[in-house]
Amino acid sequence: MLSNEVKEKLITIVTKENFDDSKIERLVYSYDATPNYQSMPDAVVSPRNAEEVSEILKICNQYGVPIVPRGSGTNLCAGTCPTEGGVVLLFKHMNKILEIDEENLTITVQPGVITLDLINAIEEKGLFYPPDPSSMKISTIGGNINENSGGLRGLKYGVTRDYVIGLEAVLPNGDIIRTGGKLAKDVAGYDLTRLFVGSEGTLCVITEATLKLIPMPETRKTMLALYQDLSAAARSVSKIIANKIIPTTLEFLDQATLKVVEDYAQIGLPTDVQAVLLIEQDGPPEVVDRDIQKIAEVCKQENAVSIQIAATEEEAMALRTARRAALSAVARLKPTTILEDATVPRSEIANMVKAINEITEKYQLTICTFGHAGDGNLHPTCATDARDHEEMERVEKAFAEIFEKAIELGGTITGEHGVGAMKAPYLEWKLKKEGITAMKGIKQAFDPNNIMNPGKVFAKDSKKRVVITR
Ligand SMILES: Cc1cc2nc3c(=O)[nH]c(=O)nc-3n(C[C@H](O)[C@H](O)[C@H](O)COP(=O)(O)OP(=O)(O)OC[C@H]3O[C@@H](n4cnc5c(N)ncnc54)[C@H](O)[C@@H]3O)c2cc1C
Repeated sequence: MLSNEVKEKLITIVTKENFDDSKIERLVYSYDATPNYQSMPDAVVSPRNAEEVSEILKICNQYGVPIVPRGSGTNLCAGTCPTEGGVVLLFKHMNKILEIDEENLTITVQPGVITLDLINAIEEKGLFYPPDPSSMKISTIGGNINENSGGLRGLKYGVTRDYVIGLEAVLPNGDIIRTGGKLAKDVAGYDLTRLFVGSEGTLCVITEATLKLIPMPETRKTMLALYQDLSAAARSVSKIIANKIIPTTLEFLDQATLKVVEDYAQIGLPTDVQAVLLIEQDGPPEVVDRDIQKIAEVCKQENAVSIQIAATEEEAMALRTARRAALSAVARLKPTTILEDATVPRSEIANMVKAINEITEKYQLTICTFGHAGDGNLHPTCATDARDHEEMERVEKAFAEIFEKAIELGGTITGEHGVGAMKAPYLEWKLKKEGITAMKGIKQAFDPNNIMNPGKVFAKDSKKRVVITR
């Protein structure tokens, strides 16, 4: 609980309307999109500008009160679960698009702007902001920046980090700093912009961001390649890229996912094949036509049983929307959905998919696998029931083996969803002790009192690695 002194000081900063410590409000913000994590904050506070954020941080730093910055709470790593109580910081008043600069091709926004609102605002002007997480209808730019979110267009265009060029950030001591700017080049000192992107609310509060825009591609085409053999689908991914074609989108869905997505979206997706690649290319019409033709040839050489090219934009949109709905579709199967984020070099996709299937079989679970095959980023997603403790133990063991396999193949425990509280115990598997020590040094330099989103990224204890025998 906050002391009366802290409470009074916070109310003086934000006014009574923007401070809430009622039980109901604290309950609402006690969890996020991650299953199995819940912990009550002490209060929920909604600042109106960077100066208020600065005053709040000064008070919390002085009294050792944890701060949990929160966008829409759609993260899947318990990144906004207030595991150590404290103040949840909302950005509902800081949700404005401040400027679209068509000369410098930038947009400057406050952190609470919804990703899709930003995309719609700039597309009206013929501009393009590529990062498109499937949650973009509800996620905020502040959340995207702090998780370094990716999306379907990541293979060709990169992820959020590649578009953040300037930030206004409030440090735990209340200092307001600016990093980068509307600059194509800037090597003045350490690159704090890139450090803050993906920092999961553990170093600072982002209060403004300047993002790079690019011209809207002239045209795009979408196709599906269907396979009866998972490895053939995975081989096609590597071969398309080895043919020096970088598609905008190169997504993988296994049969289990296809079935649940079709059941949900009803758009005529094939459910009698083992795997599907959803492939998209954009650019000048002649380049798109040439690439799509070449990709179709490669897929046929790799034994695709059928190639379907979307005839209209509506058809293409239906395919993209179906892919984006994969998580929601799997979530209909059972009460609890656990989505993971194992990522491997793309040449190892076939081995990773094979391992996931073996692990699923071994632990007798329902795991649907889909993901950004071109990025090597797979989302094995388990439909389960948190009330079934015996099954949950098997789920935990299965995911530990999946992480272990990803690392063995030269990969990582998370490609885009972040570490949060959920994957913190596994971070050492990827970074080793020395890597964790280096990162803790950075955390200590910015946040010596550990008020920024404590309990995230760094675990009290690491999970023991087990040697897996299959
Ligand atoms: C259905 C579904 C689909 C998804 N699809 C994708 C996908 O395709 N790609 C992908 O990468 N992710 C995806 N996600 C995960 C999630 O949507 C992203 O991580 C997203 O960026 C989170 O945005 P948010 O506004 O909900 O942030 P939150 O979940 O509220 O916060 C995320 C992190 O950012 C921090 N934070 C938020 N705002 C600030 C700020 N102003 N200053 C400092 N720290 C801050 C929080 O403390 C937390 O650590 C999906 C999630 C769901 C539920």
